[in-house]
Amino acid sequence: MSAEQALVKRDVLIVGAGLAGSAAATVLARRGLSVTVIDPYAEFPPLFRAEKIEPDQAALLQSLGLLDKVKQKTRIISEIIHARAGRTLRRRQIEQFGISYCDIVNQVRAQFPEQVEFRLGRVKKITSGESRPRVELADGSVCVGRLLILATGMSGRLPEQLGIEKRMVKEELSMAFGFMLERTDGQAFPFDAVTYYTGTLADKVGYVTLFRMGNAMRANIYAYWPAKDATTKELLREPATALPRLLPGLDQLIGSYAAQGKIEPFKIDLYRMQQCARADMVLIGDAYQSVCPSTGMGLSKVLTDVDVLCNEFVPRWMAAGSIATSDVAAFYAHERKSALDDRALHLALAGRDSVLATSLHWRVQRLVRAWRFAHGE
Ligand SMILES: Cc1cc2nc3c(=O)[nH]c(=O)nc-3n(C[C@H](O)[C@H](O)[C@H](O)COP(=O)(O)OP(=O)(O)OC[C@H]3O[C@@H](n4cnc5c(N)ncnc54)[C@H](O)[C@@H]3O)c2cc1C
Repeated sequence: MSAEQALVKRDVLIVGAGLAGSAAATVLARRGLSVTVIDPYAEFPPLFRAEKIEPDQAALLQSLGLLDKVKQKTRIISEIIHARAGRTLRRRQIEQFGISYCDIVNQVRAQFPEQVEFRLGRVKKITSGESRPRVELADGSVCVGRLLILATGMSGRLPEQLGIEKRMVKEELSMAFGFMLERTDGQAFPFDAVTYYTGTLADKVGYVTLFRMGNAMRANIYAYWPAKDATTKELLREPATALPRLLPGLDQLIGSYAAQGKIEPFKIDLYRMQQCARADMVLIGDAYQSVCPSTGMGLSKVLTDVDVLCNEFVPRWMAAGSIATSDVAAFYAHERKSALDDRALHLALAGRDSVLATSLHWRVQRLVRAWRFAHGE
């Protein structure tokens, strides 16, 4: 098949079908646009990413008409115990949902209307600027659209092809570790979720969150040592000794516990793409800006991007018949979107400083936080 034979012309091309790309494809197709979405995985694989849906994220999924099907795979969390140094501080009533990221994405993909064409493949080249945006797949086929949405997550190198640069805000900002947790006595844990602060900064642990996912208890540790630090190796190779050392007092709170199966590590680089306004082309989700998982804001950012882009900007652009650089710049500068992006960056850096910074400001902040914890605030 020649490249010309394989040419597909669509309203919207979306590269990447993680949450950002899949949700955008669904919303735009429901608006009657023809959409081609391209991804190398027929089913989104079980990768370590967001594993909890916060209330604001559930509300966004609901407003995008995506929540009901996602909910089918969730485990409801109705109470979080906040604890520090082996002691419960308070219990917070909440409605959160524990769910693996691949289940979130696959449940959104399962809602693709028929105007969505899913193409299995990896995009290796993109062009935009002179005429309609074009993408070329590794198999040589070519798609052309009126609008190109890049939703390639953290991995994508495609923006570089258009001269779009990644501005690294903080390389190796943090580490995240995900694993299943069990009680050594074989009993079930008697809580939905725990957010635990160790009360010491010596080991550079921000906090650990435990929460129900399916029939099991999941743990995510957020920490601020470099990826190659000996602590990473110790945690991966000898969790039975590393966990009690890194999380002192947790066993007093939840009983004797052990990691079940493999601990998955993830190194977080914090970045934002810069000078990325291009006619007919837009970046969303992690392709535009990464997030520190400890802030719990990744899905909020992705879904806000999708909402603002697909419900406000794309309908206007399609009606106008053209998408200028200034139109795309207006999307990145949109008040709600840019405020959330800025807040996510700010909280990511503040989370790191709250553990590592030695300035007077942060020493005072820590004292204030310790006082608040001690008084149950
Ligand atoms: C360890 C970890 C824990 C996290 N925890 C939380 C949390 O608790 N709460 C929260 O809100 N957020 C969390 N996040 C952030 C959240 O998971 C991300 O912000 C979100 O998943 C980003 O979605 P996305 O669609 O932009 O990218 P992705 O889901 O990464 O999707 C990118 C897609 O692009 C595809 N792709 C890439 N290159 C190409 C190509 N060349 N051609 C075709 N397709 C391509 C990939 O296959 C993939 O399907 C966490 C992130 C990490 C790393």
